[in-house]
Amino acid sequence: MKRELICISCPIGCELTVVRNNDGTHSVHGNQCPKGEDYAREEINSPKRIVTTTVALESNVRLRVPVRTNKPLPVKQIQGILEELHSMKLKIPVRRGDPVLRDFQGTRVDVIASLSVGV
Ligand code: SF4
Repeated sequence: MKRELICISCPIGCELTVVRNNDGTHSVHGNQCPKGEDYAREEINSPKRIVTTTVALESNVRLRVPVRTNKPLPVKQIQGILEELHSMKLKIPVRRGDPVLRDFQGTRVDVIASLSVGV
């Protein structure tokens, strides 16, 4: 099995090829530095993403505050964090950088406000 990836660890964006060997290990090609191999292995074994969404305000649920995780979250937990964030209502004022959710399910991933509202 062969998989093509773009390394997003720096602006160069090396085109990586990951090949599954007969013994179950993976070989990474196309990286210009060791970070590319680390990125490819993580992407194959445990992909993670920064999550961005919006959270409603308690005072007006039609207004929503943009939020994002402070670090990448395992892909398999994205649905769970979105459900929790979409059930929340924030009280104003909300300041940019304020944590709106801490240590989601023990992952040490926080969700922070991306915009100030009512400040
Ligand atoms: S492999 Fe290294 S040089 Fe290439 S994009 Fe990734 S971090 Fe940058």
